[in-house]
Order: sequence, then C-alpha cells, then structure tokens
Amino acid sequence: MNCELEDYGNFPGIYVHVPFCRRKCPYCNFYSITDTKRLPAYMDALVDEIQMVPKPPVPCDTVYIGGGTPSLLTARQIQTLLEALFKQFDVTGNAEITIEVNPGTVSEDKLKRYHEAGINRLNIGVQSFNDDMLEFLGRIHSGSKAAAVIRRARSAGYDNIGLDLICGLPGQSIDAWRGDLYTALEFLPAHLSCYLLTYAPGTPLAEQMHQNRFKPLSEKTCGEMFLLTHDFLLAQGYEHYEISNFAYAERGRSRHNQKYWHHVPYIGLGPAAHSYLNRRRYWNVSSVNQYVDCIKSGKLPVEASEDLTVEQEMIEAIFLGLRCREGIPVDLFEARFGIDFQNRFHSVLSRNQESGYLSLTGDRCALSRKGLLYADSIAEAFIQMV
Ligand code: SF4
Repeated sequence: MNCELEDYGNFPGIYVHVPFCRRKCPYCNFYSITDTKRLPAYMDALVDEIQMVPKPPVPCDTVYIGGGTPSLLTARQIQTLLEALFKQFDVTGNAEITIEVNPGTVSEDKLKRYHEAGINRLNIGVQSFNDDMLEFLGRIHSGSKAAAVIRRARSAGYDNIGLDLICGLPGQSIDAWRGDLYTALEFLPAHLSCYLLTYAPGTPLAEQMHQNRFKPLSEKTCGEMFLLTHDFLLAQGYEHYEISNFAYAERGRSRHNQKYWHHVPYIGLGPAAHSYLNRRRYWNVSSVNQYVDCIKSGKLPVEASEDLTVEQEMIEAIFLGLRCREGIPVDLFEARFGIDFQNRFHSVLSRNQESGYLSLTGDRCALSRKGLLYADSIAEAFIQMV
C-alpha cells in the first residue's frame, strides 16, 4: 500500500485502535476481542506499525486512543505508545490527546499515570447511571462505579472530561433519561455524547430484538428524548454542535472528532483502524492475528482502500454537514464542487424550509432543532439530487 502524504489543508489527527475488551457488549459492532493474552504481541506490532507509517509533512494536533477498551492498557503501555507516536510524528505541544475509558477498568493511580504520560482528555463510557440499563447493555460496571471513576479522574488532574451516554433503551422512561442527564451534569463534563441505542445488524442485541425478547422503545419516545436532550443541555449552557454531541463552550468540543466530520485527514493505526488521506480512505485488517503477522513480515496491515469520487465526497459533505451545528458551508461547498447549491437543491431546500426543518442563512445550510430528528431522511433527499 502506497500512502503518499500530501495535500494537507489542516493538521491531521492520529487514531489508535485498541481492539481488546474484557467482555463483549451485545449492542456493539466495533472490532474487538476478549483474548487479552494477545495484548503484548499487539503492542509490539503497534509500535512497529507506528515506525513504518510515513511521517506527515505537517504536525498532528490530535491523538485519539479508542477501541475496544484502551483503558485495559497499563500506564506503562500507554507511555510506550505515546513515546512511539511522539518520536515518529510531529505532535504539536498543545495537541488534544484522548483516551476512551471504560469505568470497569481503571484506578485513580492508573488515571494519574496516564496523565503523566501525556493524556490530557478522557472520554468515559458511562452509558447510563442506572444499573438496570447497564445490565441490559451488558456493561461491566455499575452506575456508582462510573460516578466514582469520574470523581477519580478529577482528582487525577483531568479538566477535559467527556461522558458517553445512551438513550432510547427498552423500558427507559423519559424521567429516567432526564435523571441520567442530571447526574452527568453534576460532574460538569466539558463534553457529552448522547447516542440513541441502535440495533446494528449482526449484533446479539439485534438478534434478541428479532426474537421478540424485548420491546424496543417507540420512535416517538426516542424523538421526545432527543428533543429533551437538546433543550435540557442548551439550557445548561452546552452547545449542540453535532447531532449526538454537546460541548460546554467551544473549547469543550472534541477537536479530533471534528476532523471526521469535516474531511480533515487522519491516520489510523491498529487493527480495523481507518485512515483518510489525499481523498483516499483505507483501512487495516480486522484481525489481531493477521495484523501481527502482517507487521512481522514487514508490510503495512492495510486490507483495502477506496479513492473517493467527487460524487462520494459531495454526498459525505452533505450527510456530515447536516449533522453539524454549522451545517453545510454553502460558499465552500460551491467552490469545492463547482455547482450552484441553491439551484441544484432547490426543491429539497424549499420543502424543508417551509416545514421549519432547515434554514439557509448567510452561507450556511443547517438543520433546525426539529430538523435534526429527520437528519437521515433529509440528507437522503439531498443525495437523490447529487
Ligand atoms: S466495551 Fe465498548 S468496545 Fe468493548 S464491546 Fe463494549 S461497547 Fe464495544
């Protein structure tokens, strides 16, 4: 695989995938395995991969260690990983360096030592503070454990903490969801991701749903939860900057995730990690064994790649733009794709403006609070006209 590094409009980000979990959650479709005996071989291969990847000609200003459960790594392993990254890449002094934390896997000492190694942002996978909901999700921690870990993270010196929550769970009431939001806000997180539970095909949870082993929450209730989340968090001073993401002031935004939404290059390392460079997307093999073997034989573990066509780029710019608060930047969109935006999308624009789902102000085309509820179908209507 030849991955030339050119054409950087912005600082790229680095994503590291840690494909190990203590136990698989039934709703999850991320690649990970529970055989942690493979961790040392993975770590060796990861450090080798970092040394094999060409160094970008411009500095990187984000590192995101995700998974899987990266907080299964010891502080020593995180230190080794970061040292290898800092040696190979020009990581800026003010880089945002995030690790995803599963509350069932960390002590205060570990969090402190992560901090000393260079981690300056935590994304804690709380999912819920309600133990019944956590049991349904198959999580390895309780609500009180998650709360204790957030407190430990504060004492360990982190001021940039994001929390992940899931709503739309079977049997979850609007009040129970509001309760989760209240509890989360007691910890003054800089960032909140509020995801609606999805039943990804092939997951055990999707299978259980097809077997009628539980009743999914109605679309209507899920919609009410979405609007409640928006109103509640805005009233508390958060901005709804992406369909599932809220930040306390601009500095609370995830610098790294914004790269995915704005077509900024990123380099993915580790099994199943995706990269995006020079309009090419490529991804590593989704197997720890294959990954290790590939690196041992001196080859980059890239499974496949695709060069995005102009049409694909336009579709992504619409889909991702409509999910963000800033919407689609019409001037930039027109300059990039050489089209007259209003002319091309006239019918879908006027229909959704009349319904109050979309606004076109200045050079921005953005969904309203209610329009965000229908983001996928509105984006689909645009895409039909590409
Ligand atoms: S801990 Fe996270 S990555 Fe692992 S199975 Fe659960 S949701 Fe998936």
